[in-house]
Formats: sequence, structure tokens, C-alpha cells
Amino acid sequence: MQFRLSLSNAVSGEFKVRAPLIKPSRLTDVSRGGVGKELSTGWVVNFAIGCTHACPFCYVDNIHKRFFTGKYPETKGEWGTYLLIPEPVSFKKALEETPWHKWRDELVLMSSTHDPFLPQLLPYAKAILETGLKHGVHFLIQTRSLNALQLLPILAEYKNQVIFQVSIATVNETLRRVIEPHVSPAEARLMMLKKAKEHGLRIGVIIAPIIPPNKLRPSLEQDLDTLMRKLASIGVNQVFGEMLHVRGFNIKRLEQLLGERIIINGEVDRWVGSLFEELLKKHRLNGKYWYEYY
Ligand code: SF4
Repeated sequence: MQFRLSLSNAVSGEFKVRAPLIKPSRLTDVSRGGVGKELSTGWVVNFAIGCTHACPFCYVDNIHKRFFTGKYPETKGEWGTYLLIPEPVSFKKALEETPWHKWRDELVLMSSTHDPFLPQLLPYAKAILETGLKHGVHFLIQTRSLNALQLLPILAEYKNQVIFQVSIATVNETLRRVIEPHVSPAEARLMMLKKAKEHGLRIGVIIAPIIPPNKLRPSLEQDLDTLMRKLASIGVNQVFGEMLHVRGFNIKRLEQLLGERIIINGEVDRWVGSLFEELLKKHRLNGKYWYEYY
């Protein structure tokens, strides 16, 4: 299987959106048997199907192929080559009909199954944030996209309702070019975090996916140490981390791109987790490593 590059501006079609735009999130909630990551109070807003960042490690494709191929045949395509955006009339209606006050003071994750700030999604993200924030909803924004910079002035008006987070897999640029080929270098995302901090926002990072040592980046210790030092100097409020989650074809894609086998198991997870926790302490950062296999 060859992994092909995506068209970053591609749109495969539209899908009808219905109110409420905010949905329960198993990723962040424990009450319904969910995973319980500290990214919201159990709520998420997803408003696209697909993601043209096409990160080869991403496991969202696996979810879409399991649940959506009957309804949206576009999702049969390779990851990164399809993107369904909201159909504008249904989106406007859903925006108006969502009872935003129900989520007043709740923390909502934006987003878990796509980057919310892909160029094709920016107007939708802006409309959701402007409306939700006005009604007292809190948002944890999670992105790899520098397009978020455009929204910082709006977010700054509601600084007590926003946590601005970026995802970074590595500060090793050689490895980054292979595993995050369609997003900006880590340094640019760190610069964006700094700007968000200057706007008065609370900021965070998810270091993910952490990939075991490999030929391109032999020392994981050095990579994580460098990244955490940079995060400490920016004054990041929270740092989370997790290993590559093996789902569907993602590990095969990565092994093909790296030209070597990737070993993920409980022992590796435990080693990475201890290293992560040690470095959090060393750099006096608040945060948590999310164990998956240990
Ligand atoms: S940006 Fe996030 S959702 Fe999009 S492909 Fe990368 S990991 Fe997946």
C-alpha cells in the first residue's frame, strides 16, 4: 500500500448538520465508560468529516471507515484525500437552534476528529466560537494549524473562557517532515502559542503521537527534553502526552514512511511515560502522560 499526499485545499463535498452542534464526547468523559482525557467537561464540537492535514499516524480515518462509509462514500478514499464541510443552510440553522445556554460554563473540546482551523473550515470555526463564547461556553481549542492566529483577537476578548492548545509530535524537523508533512514546523506552532499567551490566553500542548526512538530521531530523551524546555520558557500552562495509538492502517503507513518497524507495547509505553513524567518535573511543568498500553 502506498501512502499518497493529500490536496490541502480539497473539499469532497458537503454534509447536513443538525442542532445541537455540541455533542457528548467519550474521549473526555468517564461517566459513560469513556476515556476521560482532561480536554473538556465531556463535550465536543466536530464540524467536518475528514482532515486534509493527512497526518499518517492519525486514527480518525479508521473511525470514519467504520461508521460513515455507508452514508458518505467519500470516506472510502485514502486518509487526507476527503473532506466534507457543513452544508451552509443547515449549518446556519444548527447554529441558531443550538441551545448554547445549556453549555454555559461547560468546557467544550474543539475538535476531536479534524483540525478545526483547516482553511476550508475557518468561517465555520469562527461562527461557532463567536456564538458559543457570547453565550458563556468555554472552549479548549486543539489545533496544528497556524490559521488559528487569525482568531486570536476574538479569543482574547473571552480569555477566561478559552484554553488554547496545539499538538506537536516532535521538535526534530527531519522526523516532523515525515510524520506531520502537511503542517507547519514545530517552531512555528510554538511561536503561535507564544502569541496566544501574549493575548492573555491560557495555553497548553499535547505532545503526540510520541514515537519510539528510530533512525531519523534516535534520541527520544533529547527530543522531549528540548521540547519541554521550550514549553517552560514560553510559560505553557499544561502539557499532555501520549504514544502512538495503533488503529487501522496507521502503523503500516508510518513504518512504510520511516522504513523500519515500530514497536509499541506496554513496556515501551511505561518507559515513555516515566521519561515524560521525569521531564515534566525537571522543567516544572504541569501536565500528565496518558498511558494507553501500560
Ligand atoms: S491534524 Fe489531527 S485530525 Fe487532522 S490528520 Fe492530523 S492528527 Fe488527524
